[in-house]
Amino acid sequence: VAHCEADVNNNTPVEVAAKNPVPEFKWHILWEFVKPELFALIGAVVLAFGAAILNIQIPLMLGNLVNVVARYLREHTGNYIHEIRGPALKLLGLYGIQGLLTSGYIILLSRVGERVAADMRKTLFACLLRQDVAFYDANKTGQLVNRLTADIQEFKSSFKLVISQGLRSITQTVGCFVSLYVISPKLTGLTVVVLPCLVGAGALIGSVLRRLSRLAQEQVAKATGVADEALGNVRTVKAFAMEERERQLYALEVDKSCEMNENLGAGIAVFQGLSNIALNCIVLGTIFAGGTLISNNEMSPGDLMSFLVASQTVQRSLASISILFGQMVRGISSGARVFEYLSLEPTIPLSGGGRIPYHSLIGRVDFMDISFSYPTRPGQQVLKRFNLTLPPCKTVAIVGESGGGKSTVAALLERFYDPTSGVIMLDGLDIRTLDPSWLRAQVIGFINQEPVLFGSSIMENIRFGKPEATDAEVINAAEQANAHRFITSFPDGYNTMVGERGVTLSGGQKQRIAIARALIKNPNILVLDEATSALDAESERVVQEALDRATRGRTVLIIAHRLSTIQGADLICVMSNGRIVEAGTHSELLSKGGLYSDLIRRQRAEGQK
Ligand code: ADP
Repeated sequence: VAHCEADVNNNTPVEVAAKNPVPEFKWHILWEFVKPELFALIGAVVLAFGAAILNIQIPLMLGNLVNVVARYLREHTGNYIHEIRGPALKLLGLYGIQGLLTSGYIILLSRVGERVAADMRKTLFACLLRQDVAFYDANKTGQLVNRLTADIQEFKSSFKLVISQGLRSITQTVGCFVSLYVISPKLTGLTVVVLPCLVGAGALIGSVLRRLSRLAQEQVAKATGVADEALGNVRTVKAFAMEERERQLYALEVDKSCEMNENLGAGIAVFQGLSNIALNCIVLGTIFAGGTLISNNEMSPGDLMSFLVASQTVQRSLASISILFGQMVRGISSGARVFEYLSLEPTIPLSGGGRIPYHSLIGRVDFMDISFSYPTRPGQQVLKRFNLTLPPCKTVAIVGESGGGKSTVAALLERFYDPTSGVIMLDGLDIRTLDPSWLRAQVIGFINQEPVLFGSSIMENIRFGKPEATDAEVINAAEQANAHRFITSFPDGYNTMVGERGVTLSGGQKQRIAIARALIKNPNILVLDEATSALDAESERVVQEALDRATRGRTVLIIAHRLSTIQGADLICVMSNGRIVEAGTHSELLSKGGLYSDLIRRQRAEGQK
């Protein structure tokens, strides 16, 4: 059935999700993260609000206290202690409550901030892991890691600061506005007319700053990417004595980011300078307008004084809001960068789709009329109407010039990418209808002979192929892969830690661990991407022996970068220009005298040099 459905979306080109150059901050995504912490957040807001209200009260109480002292100084009558005790105790009480509220809201807010950040990290990481291989062709890992670390950090601190400080400044602004209104509605009305104009101008400058901030952060990530690549491949850098060039490359990117951040700083500075000027002009304007009101007997000089004092408080609060605004600009652009990938769905889902029961799986693969270009390079067609059948339990090797598309065939079988057109069948079913996680985890064993090991024990590295495997299964797989003997010769045996990239193991040892890792899942189909770098003869022999054992009874696809090891294959296919031009056994192809015999001759000649 699936066979017939296979052609339906045959011609849909594989697309990398278009990279949105300006990630937008999506409030509904933030809401999803904040929702579980809503009660704590509301609690924090209420407490912070309370603390802010008390902050308005405390100066008034202080004023009462000062009045008592002043009266006592003036009149020298009555009992000072007796009189001062009431207001003093009241003030002390307020201090206490204010302190409690403050620590309360900080505790709640840091809880909310930390949990939201942790949740974001976990979600973003899961989302990144879910993406297609094509996504990683288009995005540098350094930049992605930066989103998990720096951007989330920045977002978290902005989030906390904006809520705590912002709340206080806003409460004070509002509180003082109320006092202003009580003192003189007319004068307040004037302020209210002027203010929206200022806010509008502020928003305009703000949006420019936001863009600068985003560009600057992207540049930081780019610099990090350069460092990441150089440090991650430090051996190659050293082997080519490229330290100086890498240093220059990094310095160039860092200087660029320095310049951009300086510009951002300058932008924020101008913004703050302008807002200070504006606020001062409000004071000046108030005196001017208030003077007019006084001369019309609509206001007393004392009222004007109070109005000025209150408006000073508003000014201070607004100034702190403008500082916070800078923080918020940065927080929002970090947040947007964090959110950018959260809603990105991979074109190839991780799981979902049909499975073939283990006992009825035959392991026949057909590549039918496959055309393919990498999504990052749509102009270059790597496979052109490529056809190939992997018969069950047979070994098929693909040879051909480097860059001819051999590894691409393996990548398509793994469903790292979907073909631009054509169908890949497993036992007659389009693999796009099958469950990719089942396909990868259970059906296909992939042995890359330039393997990457994870920074953990050998045991864990082999178990990576089948997380639920017992120790006995791991050892069995290692034995099949000719790895058991060398592993047990280590003092720590299977618990030996292999370095970040397995630097403590030789090439042949790493290869055998990779073979064990693939064999432990007992796959029906084995894909061998042969090493391009040669091993010494002895290692080559043990590895080859392990591979011969591993391939028995399985459908095998060998991507051969060298010809010496595949002469026993059931079928050898020669690839050229994205399709197969010759196929047959070693001796058939030799006697034919075509491309294959050319390749063999060339390689022999090279070997003799
Ligand atoms: P082979 O295995 O025969 O050496 P590949 O299948 O690795 O060849 O590559 C075939 C072509 O596809 C090459 O031109 C290569 O540059 C290109 N290519 C390989 N991988 C990618 C990728 N991830 N993104 C874009 N182009 C790629």
